[in-house]
Amino acid sequence: MEFDRAGVRALMEITQRPELVFVRGQGSWLEDHSGKRYLDMIQGWAVNSLGHSPLSVVKAMAEQSATLMNPSPAFYNQPSIELAKRIVQNSCFDRVFFANSGAEANEGAIKLARKWGQIHKEGAYKIITFNHSFHGRTLATMSASGKPGWDRLFAPQVEGFPKAELNDLDSVAALIDNSTVAIMLEPVQGEAGVIPATDEFMQGLRELADQHKLLLIVDEVQTGMGRTGTLFAYEHSGIRPDIMTLGKGIGAGVPLAALCAREEVSCFQHGDQGGTYNGNPVMAAAGVAVFDELTSPGFLTAVNARAQQLSEGLEAISAKWGMHGERGTGLLRALMLDQDDGPALVNAARERSPEGLLLNAPRPNLLRFMPALNVTAEEVDLLLAWLDELLTQVRG
Ligand SMILES: *Cc1c(COP(=O)(O)O)cnc(C)c1O
Repeated sequence: MEFDRAGVRALMEITQRPELVFVRGQGSWLEDHSGKRYLDMIQGWAVNSLGHSPLSVVKAMAEQSATLMNPSPAFYNQPSIELAKRIVQNSCFDRVFFANSGAEANEGAIKLARKWGQIHKEGAYKIITFNHSFHGRTLATMSASGKPGWDRLFAPQVEGFPKAELNDLDSVAALIDNSTVAIMLEPVQGEAGVIPATDEFMQGLRELADQHKLLLIVDEVQTGMGRTGTLFAYEHSGIRPDIMTLGKGIGAGVPLAALCAREEVSCFQHGDQGGTYNGNPVMAAAGVAVFDELTSPGFLTAVNARAQQLSEGLEAISAKWGMHGERGTGLLRALMLDQDDGPALVNAARERSPEGLLLNAPRPNLLRFMPALNVTAEEVDLLLAWLDELLTQVRG
């Protein structure tokens, strides 16, 4: 197939993209319009939790779409009930609202916290978030995010999101006042460069929230659904958050997200929340298939084994090349480069032949790895071998 250079002009330009069109994917592999294959360590930004076109999800969606696509969100449908039950049974949450994107789920979390503040805390509405955090691209979630420069983009912001420093409890405590209703964070900051919140910090936030009657919201859009080696990342610290959002991996590639809350926090009244496609049976059926695979015996054990293999392999590369080590949790990992050649490595990896490699550099001095959770040991070895070879090529 030819690259349709003229056709591309019909798409709104939102970022610089390489001149290639992906036409097919299977597991950890993608194929472009010219037939070239790529080992994919991005997986739609940690979205394709089971790799490209996983059979269980393909089947579930095909069956469901032939049976019932959309009875209307004003009626119940069985797949959404099945998925909500699974989330509730496997977490500390009691109620689930389904959304179509991580940003929309986070908007819902912000609304739910503000509603709770109106009912239980005299209209308190401020939500403490963190510098360098990422919560989405709607106006409120951009305002909640701590990405440098985003406070001026599309100004004025939605107000009420004071920013603290991750892993600095005092910086959070200093921001709490009578109008504070919640603290919201990613258990591992993803876009910031894979920076985990420590267990002590998570526990400290829980205590602080209890002392000041605040809600603790975890944005697990990237870290949830097995990505960090447990079903949800909050489990690592042993705490119970009040609200959690899920996205990305829960749909394994299709638009599905969730807002989860404990019973005492689930205070939406009729008409407060909704949406045309929310909880639609086709996406929910995909979610059920994903959930059943992730919770099948041995699945998370394998995730942790691959995570250890990747971690050790990256550490060895770091030592060999004099880099600054690696970090992360589960299969969300980063290699800290000793120079700003991340973008050059990403390009060289993609242009590698005969087979390419898809990598991501959220910062110039850092590579992020988000393979499919069912990536094989051979594929991780291939990644590590190719990475070493690319370093020789780029650094000479
Ligand atoms: C990707 C991401 C979002 C936004 O999700 P979308 O589906 O792109 O709206 C929100 N929070 C975190 C932590 C994310 O990684």
